[in-house]
Amino acid sequence: MSQSEVTPTQITNLIQHEPIEFSISIQPHGLLMALNPQLVILQVSNNTEDLLGKKPNDLLGQPLSDLLNSEQVKAIEQCWQQERGRVNSFKLSIQTSKGKQYFDGIAHRTESTLILELEPTDSVNEISFLSFHALAGEAIAKMRKTSNLTDFLQLVASEVQKITGFDRVMVYEFDHVGAGSVVAEVKRHDLSPYLGLHYPATDLPEQVRELYKRNLLRFIPNLNAQPVELVSVENSETHSRPVDLSFCVLRSAHPCCVEYHQNMDVAAMLVIALIKEQKLWGLISCHHQTHKHIPYEVRKICEFLGQIVSRELEHKVNQSQLDYRVRLQSLQSDFIESISQADNFREALVNPQPSLLDVVDAQGAAVYLDDEITLLGATPNIEQVRLLIDWADASNGDNLFSTDSLPKLYPEAVAFKNTASGLLLLRISKVRRYYILWFRPEVIQTVSWAGNPDESIQVDANGNVKLCPRASFERWQQTVRLTSLPWKPCEIDSALALRNAIVGIVLSKADELARMNLELERSNRELASFAFAASHDLKEPLRGIHNYSTVLLEDYAQLLDEDGIEYLQTVVSLSQRMETLINSLLRLSQLGQAKLQLQATDLNELLDQVIHLLRASRPQGQFNIRIPRPLPTIECDPVLVSEVFSNLIINALKYNDKPEKCVEIGYLNAEEQGETSVPFVFYIRDNGIGIPEHHHESIFRLFKRLHSQEKYGGGAGAGLAISKKIVERHGGRIWVESVVDVGSTFYFTLE
Ligand code: ADP
Repeated sequence: MSQSEVTPTQITNLIQHEPIEFSISIQPHGLLMALNPQLVILQVSNNTEDLLGKKPNDLLGQPLSDLLNSEQVKAIEQCWQQERGRVNSFKLSIQTSKGKQYFDGIAHRTESTLILELEPTDSVNEISFLSFHALAGEAIAKMRKTSNLTDFLQLVASEVQKITGFDRVMVYEFDHVGAGSVVAEVKRHDLSPYLGLHYPATDLPEQVRELYKRNLLRFIPNLNAQPVELVSVENSETHSRPVDLSFCVLRSAHPCCVEYHQNMDVAAMLVIALIKEQKLWGLISCHHQTHKHIPYEVRKICEFLGQIVSRELEHKVNQSQLDYRVRLQSLQSDFIESISQADNFREALVNPQPSLLDVVDAQGAAVYLDDEITLLGATPNIEQVRLLIDWADASNGDNLFSTDSLPKLYPEAVAFKNTASGLLLLRISKVRRYYILWFRPEVIQTVSWAGNPDESIQVDANGNVKLCPRASFERWQQTVRLTSLPWKPCEIDSALALRNAIVGIVLSKADELARMNLELERSNRELASFAFAASHDLKEPLRGIHNYSTVLLEDYAQLLDEDGIEYLQTVVSLSQRMETLINSLLRLSQLGQAKLQLQATDLNELLDQVIHLLRASRPQGQFNIRIPRPLPTIECDPVLVSEVFSNLIINALKYNDKPEKCVEIGYLNAEEQGETSVPFVFYIRDNGIGIPEHHHESIFRLFKRLHSQEKYGGGAGAGLAISKKIVERHGGRIWVESVVDVGSTFYFTLE
């Protein structure tokens, strides 16, 4: 089995089975005794001779009153009345072989024993309130004033360093899996910095974390000192069952912990737990390169400060999360405002200010709208994004999909891990294929561990897993590959809120469009019925004018002079022209209203009839109409389509000054057009006078003519407008290609 095959469960099991709190030795700078309810000494550490001048056997089985005066004994006895784990401290003076010796006495009870720890001290005087205030008060006042979390933690490190004088004071923060990172540091200038380094979760086993929650301060003044064993009265309870030392200040360090710190060149350490919402949030960790003793009172001040920091943390961490959330919300609302006001939605989405990237703190983004992808910042290429969206659609149907290790789910992403190891995909509409994607790069370039985390796990020849202190504490790039920084819950919320806003904007834009369409339809209908009514009503008085003018010309011509007759003739011809115009208008307005009578129509038959009628109406006309290949049968309104062919053929012959007027009628199929969007494009080609390019669009407007009435047989200027209307009613379009003096080709489609 290799190191990488060691599973997290194996590691956890391994650590869980190390009975750290039931160690049977203590640190040698103090002594420990376990007492029964009658305060008889059942167990002592094997260093009583050094500190008290008495051998353990001289103390075992003896009452505590042999050692302490009655007042001191009475005070210690009180501990029995208290709940388990409550720690009491006393200043004690003991008569030893070397004379009177002062001790800090620290007592607490376990299930059945009372544990008394004694640490030698220089004086019997407790630290005064004023010096306590000088040490802690000032630090607390400064902490309260700092609102920013990073500044606050830095201040904590620096205040603890001032109070303790350690070479290095760091603040660690643990993440959700228990891996730590150094978030603040104060150090002796010649030491290399650890700030920003990350530690794997295995560096602080779960059991040690639990102990820190119970015992908020851990002090080891000399990691190199030889631990002292505990000795018991034979056959006593403490003899058969190890005592729970979890609340003991003198509990010896685990060999792993000793080796770990020795590797870091640390000889003394003080660790203060930081608890937030009943969980171990982090640690204030103090290191010293040489042995260092910190008086009990100063440690108590540190513990007290740790509790204040814990209390403040709750507020400051929440505040910093809130600040970030508020910042995201304000960026988000700026962003939403800018896109809701923009005419071009896509452009607004990828505008640099306010940026789409800031809404979730991403390094790259892609917007997929109407089958087009627009990229922003550091991203995979367009084709990679397109394939990624297809994959996401096939594998997950939620509106929001996020991962901080995309290549592990989608192996193709290995190719673009540097831009998109993290993906946050927002599906705005699956049907219309609207997506926003945000990307984060692989973090390998940005994360450094202190030492190689794999070194802490070793496997022996028999395959047994062993946790070992890591040998290296130099900055080491972690090999957790293909992973980005995680998406925070508030960033995911921000993306979701953006989706809701975009859906709202798109819906309101669609609403507006639908309302405008309705309005347009209504006004079109009104216009058509107005045109119909007006042209219909105008025809009657016009006919009257025409009739009376004709009567005047026929019956009263002798009463008029030459000018009068000419004027009347003009009135007659103008009224005729006006009637033609009104008829065209009427036809056009009818076209807009009438329902199409669609049926399968053989265009060869249809054209036969059109040409037949044409020849009948122009008996002297010299023209040549060619249809190179039979036309298809299509679904259309045959009466209207006849009108289109008729108008276009008439124009082809009319606007033609060649001695032999040639017209070719045919079609292009999908292949010949080079595209497949419509099956047929019909054309009518002539060798006539041609149309200047700048008129290629205007000729389709109603009453637009390019020539005076006298030329090319006149006309109402409505034939092309009517043809256009018919073609559009069929869902098609009409256009012209033409060269002056060479000829024109009119094209149209019918779907
Ligand atoms: P009208 O023929 O009654 O004038 P149209 O709407 O059919 O009205 O045509 C509009 C104008 O387009 C014509 O006046 C003419 O100037 C030009 N036009 C139409 N067809 C052709 C053509 N095949 N060749 C040259 N010019 C044409």
